[in-house]
Amino acid sequence: MRIVLVGPPGAGKGTQAARLSERLDAPHISTGDLFRENMRNETELGKEAQRYVDAGDLVPDEVTVGMVKDRLAQPDAAQGFLLDGFPRNTSQADELNKVLADLDQRLDAVLLFEVDDEELISRLTARGRSDDTEEVIRNRQQVYRRETAPLIEYYSDLLVKVDAMGTMDEVTDRAMDALADEPED
Ligand code: AMP
Repeated sequence: MRIVLVGPPGAGKGTQAARLSERLDAPHISTGDLFRENMRNETELGKEAQRYVDAGDLVPDEVTVGMVKDRLAQPDAAQGFLLDGFPRNTSQADELNKVLADLDQRLDAVLLFEVDDEELISRLTARGRSDDTEEVIRNRQQVYRRETAPLIEYYSDLLVKVDAMGTMDEVTDRAMDALADEPED
């Protein structure tokens, strides 16, 4: 299956993507993780991304899309993938469509993880990542509303909503059930 995960910062996308990746036997591709790995290894790409990640802004599309193309070209992604954190705006979504069309592939579903605002803040503050300071969190939330939320409309045909409140197991089960209910076409 080829799946995109969407949800506000703190919705638990990364956690659920990792769990779904095991259950569906498809690689978990997280652009945030790829950026953090590049920053840790001080690659050119990591150096370019650093100030955006630190501020909670989107890394420019040229950098991000190139990185995703390279990752999707790897053999383990040929049969399916879970994209976590990409696309994050509609132009990235257009680029993804092009990449998939060139490979004669298309997305099966877009999972939208829905969580109350209060719960989002408590999940983020519990996580303790270096870009989880109050100011940066606030910016990431604004960026989500402005840039990423329009994907909900963009992907309306593929959208599968998942109630992401509750325990990790409950949410994983709900996501699996929701995917199983999706009619094949
Ligand atoms: P995440 O781990 O998904 O919360 O991403 C952490 C940070 O990486 C974001 O705040 C952005 O700075 C950057 N990032 C991740 N994915 C993207 C993307 N698709 N486009 C641009 N920047 C991204």
